[in-house]
Amino acid sequence: MAKVLVCGWDTQADGLAPGVEETLTLGRKLAAALGAELGLVVLGSAPPDAARVAGRHGASTLETLADPKLAAGGSDARVEALAQLCQAHAPRALLMPQTFDARLVAPRVAGRLGVPIVMNGIDVDVENGALRVTATAYGGDTHALYEIAGDGTALVCVSTTALRAEPAPEPRTPVVEEFPVDLRTVTERIRVLEPAKTEGPRLEEANTIVAGGRGLGAAEHFAWIEQLAEALGGMAGASRPLVDDGWVDASRQVGLTGRITRPALYIAVGISGASQHMAGCSAAKTIVAINRDADAAIFRHARYGIVGDCHEILPELIRAARAHRAGGS
Ligand SMILES: Cc1cc2nc3c(=O)[nH]c(=O)nc-3n(C[C@H](O)[C@H](O)[C@H](O)COP(=O)(O)OP(=O)(O)OC[C@H]3O[C@@H](n4cnc5c(N)ncnc54)[C@H](O)[C@@H]3O)c2cc1C
Repeated sequence: MAKVLVCGWDTQADGLAPGVEETLTLGRKLAAALGAELGLVVLGSAPPDAARVAGRHGASTLETLADPKLAAGGSDARVEALAQLCQAHAPRALLMPQTFDARLVAPRVAGRLGVPIVMNGIDVDVENGALRVTATAYGGDTHALYEIAGDGTALVCVSTTALRAEPAPEPRTPVVEEFPVDLRTVTERIRVLEPAKTEGPRLEEANTIVAGGRGLGAAEHFAWIEQLAEALGGMAGASRPLVDDGWVDASRQVGLTGRITRPALYIAVGISGASQHMAGCSAAKTIVAINRDADAAIFRHARYGIVGDCHEILPELIRAARAHRAGGS
């Protein structure tokens, strides 16, 4: 039987990759259209919830690819392991959430196997037997539709921020098995001497984010963003120019080339709303924008907007948020 596989791992997270459930939802749709079987694949040992998540989304198998070289997190081992998996199973499609790791590894797997790959995928379908992938293009400004010729394996990296995870109507109990990889010949060509350390919670997991942009005007004004975030019990984020100019650490960057977030509340301060920034926050439940330009693009995305100078508004908001917190309500 044909297979559709979803690879759900993230070396930066302790468990399954963020977005794996949304990717499984797409995988299930594709498997149904192809009359194929859906399987979840995990590099390294499976996190405790992997079988439950796989079953909830209708996967019939959970395969773990176990090898000490995979645990080390190098990309050469991961490329080789996924290539061996694809050669053994010849899945019709291998889908993975588009995490930092996936961006690094997936194109190399496709190159190694000489098979097509589509990045930024948001939908998959089958028409007249051909695989069709809808992907965002130009930083989310438009959509591109790819039709993949032939019936070989195709890789799809899924941009999951705007997708919803929908469990299968009938959950299954997946067969859990280990796929034997042979990584003896793999030597990592790049060795990480000191991994970047991000202390505390990650932006991707924050429920409230206050993000500052170039409209702050000066590096020292980012302190307002941190103070408001703290008063609201959230985290501080930033647009890319603030990272490029060295005002804040790269781990704070929200957007296409930064962190993809989905908080309940996203407060964008002095941020214009460029598509590349919105790619990292448009899945927020509620966006509040503070911008002195009433025509700024960010207001098209915001549920609430304040038109005005953030230098005047931020100190007031910080005072109000602190007072609210101190009041215990
Ligand atoms: C390939 C590629 C990838 C990219 N990836 C990312 C990414 O991951 N993340 C990202 O953020 N960007 C990314 N960018 C850059 C992106 O295109 C924008 O240039 C960037 O998001 C703009 O940042 P900004 O909104 O802070 O600055 P600006 O566009 O300069 O906007 C500043 C805003 O502040 C407002 N403002 C000015 N003064 C005040 C004030 N006193 N009070 C209130 N408002 C004020 C202005 O009206 C304006 O709307 C990428 C670009 C490319 C080409």
